[in-house]
Amino acid sequence: MLTDSFGRVHSDLRVSLTDRCQLRCTYCMPEEGLEWAQDVLTADEIARVVRVAVWQGITEVRLTGGEPLLRRDLLDIVAAIDVPDLSLTTNGMGLARIAPELRAAGLQRVNVSVDTLRPDRFRMLTRRGGHEAVLDGVRAAKQAGLLPVKVNTVLMRGINDDEVLDLVAWARAEDVELRFIEHMPLGPDGAWDRADLVTAEEVLATLRGAYEMTPVGARGHAPAELFVLDGGGPRVGVIASVTQPFCGDCDRLRLTADGHLRACLFSREEDDLRPLLRGGASDEDLAAKLHAVVASKGAGHGIGLPGFVPPPRTMSEIGG
Ligand code: SAM
Ligand code: SF4
Repeated sequence: MLTDSFGRVHSDLRVSLTDRCQLRCTYCMPEEGLEWAQDVLTADEIARVVRVAVWQGITEVRLTGGEPLLRRDLLDIVAAIDVPDLSLTTNGMGLARIAPELRAAGLQRVNVSVDTLRPDRFRMLTRRGGHEAVLDGVRAAKQAGLLPVKVNTVLMRGINDDEVLDLVAWARAEDVELRFIEHMPLGPDGAWDRADLVTAEEVLATLRGAYEMTPVGARGHAPAELFVLDGGGPRVGVIASVTQPFCGDCDRLRLTADGHLRACLFSREEDDLRPLLRGGASDEDLAAKLHAVVASKGAGHGIGLPGFVPPPRTMSEIGG
């Protein structure tokens, strides 16, 4: 098992398939994009790292990016991964077309990011169009059986924080689970300000004003605190990454598109696996590296503590 020095057992691996994206969400990427990684892992290399990770106790793999649907060999990668829980996080562009093939290749479920229900706001927020394609993607994923479809929303004050109840009503009508994620200090310079944070507690207060909220069990390793509204319908949740960090229960490891293993989203250190993968290392050598990275994991991300410095890479580069 991949156990760190605090006794946390790691069973969840996030794999970034690319750092590229066709959108430019203001909280994630600068308008001009980023300097894209030139030397990303091949499908075979990704499959090998995942196989070794599963051998060491990983039971859940989430494919992400950047935008993972941009990866041309995505279906090969999905088909090559054998793990009890395989999911993918996407902005939903192009999902409607590929959802049935993803399901057939072995993908079990998807998370789709929907920050607004208004096409004009979508254009402002993503600096691109395509809002209808995203909503179509959510429906197609459901039809393809990529269940449960979960929707992620990042709220920003004065930008989309007036849409909480509209988004909830939409998610209930579409029968998808909606989770509001607190904005984290990971995007372009100047995009995050603690004073502007729309907190999970604020979201819950808005929801309590409109619905009877019943908590759903214990959170466990899952970051979302979930509720049933008015006694039924899909669950709605908040992910309080900043105001109520869940580092004590963290069971995640991350692999970047360019082959770096990270113990935490906010790590300032990462280990390049490419020399091992391309230098004739054995599976045992790779497993030893996984254990070393897990062993080096800190207690928590430390956002808000004196001396906190965000990592030099954005969420899209690390894999969100
Ligand atoms: N492109 C895909 C998407 O947008 O779903 C997958 C990658 S994206 C980096 C993964 C998730 O990270 C998305 O739900 C996005 O909203 C979220 N995200 C990006 N930057 C963030 C930030 N600074 N704080 C909180 N969530 C962020
Ligand atoms: Fe692209 Fe996802 Fe980042 Fe938006 S959040 S720019 S869709 S990687």
